[in-house]
Amino acid sequence: MKLKDQTQGPERLMTWDDTFCFKCHPGIDCFNSCCANVTIFLTPIDVMRMRKALGISSEDFLERHTHRLISHQTGLPALVLRMREDERKTCSFVTEKGCSIYENRPYSCRLYPLDTANGVEFKLIVDHETCHGLRESEEWTVERWRTEQGLLYYDDPDHNLKDVMAPDQVWEQKIADPRAQDMFLMALYDLDRFREFVFKSSFLQKFKIDDDILEKIREDDLALLYFGMQWLRFVFFGQKGFLKIDRDYLEKKKIEVLGGQRQKK
Ligand code: SF4
Ligand code: SF4
Repeated sequence: MKLKDQTQGPERLMTWDDTFCFKCHPGIDCFNSCCANVTIFLTPIDVMRMRKALGISSEDFLERHTHRLISHQTGLPALVLRMREDERKTCSFVTEKGCSIYENRPYSCRLYPLDTANGVEFKLIVDHETCHGLRESEEWTVERWRTEQGLLYYDDPDHNLKDVMAPDQVWEQKIADPRAQDMFLMALYDLDRFREFVFKSSFLQKFKIDDDILEKIREDDLALLYFGMQWLRFVFFGQKGFLKIDRDYLEKKKIEVLGGQRQKK
């Protein structure tokens, strides 16, 4: 009965209480086969955790381990994990013993063999011919799978990110300016560069930020990521959130600019 349910494969939509059978382990004959020739989109949380686990800067991580894509619909950049240049296009992190960054593996590797179907429901993205783990008898509900794979950690940032992307608003005005695309990439994926931008440019002259927030984002990447999402909301949609613009600074800049223009005349 369980196997029959699973053979429905991609057609079968599942919610929290629905069950599937699965177990992946080093003894299985297809072990590691799914860690090759695959397109893995990275979330901002993935990048944040993976580069920390590897002990490299966010800039180095993006350079060494990702490819950048631009969405035709929104103009927004997205990152995919760069595979090795070998014949099978294996993932850089796969070893004979499995994933070398298992504790910090990306969202889609955690969710596999499931994927989201429509934001509410889930589906199997492979069948038991390809993934022999689906022939095993260990039974999971979707909810227990998500919990045990550490996916609940992503829910809050994901929710915030959806607000930032606000598809309807973005699609109305496709982002075509490379500087705006770079801001988006920096604030969500390149947190070292974003931190430098906040603390070492004129950013803190333009915005009044509470000291407790500044203290947090100086060290804490997750707090900086939330801050970056707020900032993008302001840049793209004019939603201020906790960002307070320093009116005195803007007035001063306006006077400088007008003064400069008068001198030119
Ligand atoms: S194909 Fe399935 S069982 Fe095989 S290694 Fe991948 S997840 Fe595990
Ligand atoms: S990150 Fe780990 S789990 Fe994901 S494809 Fe690479 S080796 Fe496999």
